[in-house]
Amino acid sequence: MDKGLLVVISGPSGAGKGTICKKLLNDMDDIKVSISATTRKPRIGEVEGESYYFLEKEQFLEKIENEEFLEYAQVYGNYYGTLKKEVLKEIENGKNIILEIDIQGALEVKKNYPSGVFIFILPPSINELKSRIEGRGTDSKDTILKRMDCVYDELGYAFQYDYVVLNDDINSAVEKVYNIINAEKLRSIRNQALINKIKEV
Ligand code: 5GP
Repeated sequence: MDKGLLVVISGPSGAGKGTICKKLLNDMDDIKVSISATTRKPRIGEVEGESYYFLEKEQFLEKIENEEFLEYAQVYGNYYGTLKKEVLKEIENGKNIILEIDIQGALEVKKNYPSGVFIFILPPSINELKSRIEGRGTDSKDTILKRMDCVYDELGYAFQYDYVVLNDDINSAVEKVYNIINAEKLRSIRNQALINKIKEV
């Protein structure tokens, strides 16, 4: 492939994006998940530089000022952003990068990077989504209500993505994303160097 793929995975909170990305990381050795920056406080078990780069609001605003973000958004009252340094050079060097980001961020990336692959993860139902978020036990009641309020609007954005993947069974959802990535790697437009090489011989 000429360059690495930029794969953007988003969807409502609780749809299972995080779990899908973790499994893809385990299963595919040519893929890397971009670590985002956030002003959200770490949850129990989250590790600086692995889960996120946890920043104070002033540090985040400074990075916005210095144009260090490919995209950033305010999600449920906190800032989240994708750092250019996590993505752009890596793609030029042929690495496939996954962004697990919210819908506003994904649409921003689509404007600036239309050759990315945009995948929307659908939950099996709104009720199931609610029980998954509650079951995580990581969010306050207030945060859960905020997240649920957004879901109906968020589902409407699915049409702006290239693919939708229903996450009613985690293994089958991961397999579908895996198949999308593998098919996208074979697109003729991404393999001009290969075609030219064969023409030369
Ligand atoms: P959480 O607080 O549960 O880790 O993430 C909340 C939401 O922020 C999720 O929908 C997640 O996909 C999104 N998010 C995580 N990193 C980024 C990022 O770099 N940019 C944007 N726009 N959203 C992000």
